[in-house]
Amino acid sequence: MWRNIRIAILIAILAIVGGGAWLDQRRTTSWEYTVRVGAFPVNADGSAAAASYIAALDAAQLRPVSDFIAREARRYGVTIDTPVDIRLYPPPAAAPPVLAPDAGLIGRALWSLKLRHYRSQVVGDIARSRPKIALFLLYHDPARSPTLPHSLGLQRGLTGVVHLFATRAQAEQNAIVTTHELLHTFGATDEYDPVNDAPLYPGGYAEPLREPRYPQHFAEIMAGRVPLGPGRQEMPDDLSQVVIGPVTAAEIGWREH
Ligand SMILES: [Zn+2]
Repeated sequence: MWRNIRIAILIAILAIVGGGAWLDQRRTTSWEYTVRVGAFPVNADGSAAAASYIAALDAAQLRPVSDFIAREARRYGVTIDTPVDIRLYPPPAAAPPVLAPDAGLIGRALWSLKLRHYRSQVVGDIARSRPKIALFLLYHDPARSPTLPHSLGLQRGLTGVVHLFATRAQAEQNAIVTTHELLHTFGATDEYDPVNDAPLYPGGYAEPLREPRYPQHFAEIMAGRVPLGPGRQEMPDDLSQVVIGPVTAAEIGWREH
């Protein structure tokens, strides 16, 4: 019986604290003010490769992300010059909590509580003009991790946990992944089929009304791939081959649904 009571109390706490909106999201999607985004690099595997990559990291490497959002915002008639301003902060003392791939509902809720606590500590350490959105950029040595854990962007928590490769050769792909997760924090949803990575129609298409439909020339950011034909798609080289499609634009408040 005690076990059941403990679980009931835990669920009640999670419902109150974890279930509601973590943070105020309205101001981030009004697009009337520049949204400050804090980027916090983390050495994910304790490797020398990640350490030297982070040491050499500067704000210029995050510019393609904010430039992309500014370029696309303009295309949708958003008038603010700088929709997002991404600042690079020093690495936090500890890495963010890890979500186990097999985590159930309670495991996920507990992780989200831990992440919320972690985020408030990291952002709380910043003296002035704290970022509205926190992106934790977790760098991995590609020689150790040929594949990366799933990245996550949470609108409720205004937080992204982004797994990236610690190599300049992956800079363009890192920028695409970072942009994708950042847009999740603005309310964008995935537009690809997790089973085969195929972009979903119409949301995952840059030009859904294009005739003929294939091949498409751009990737939609929340789909991440350029549709070439039914069941055929390829990765874009860099953000110049990526756009924000009309469905995503509506989700983040750039146009009416
Ligand atoms: Zn996603």
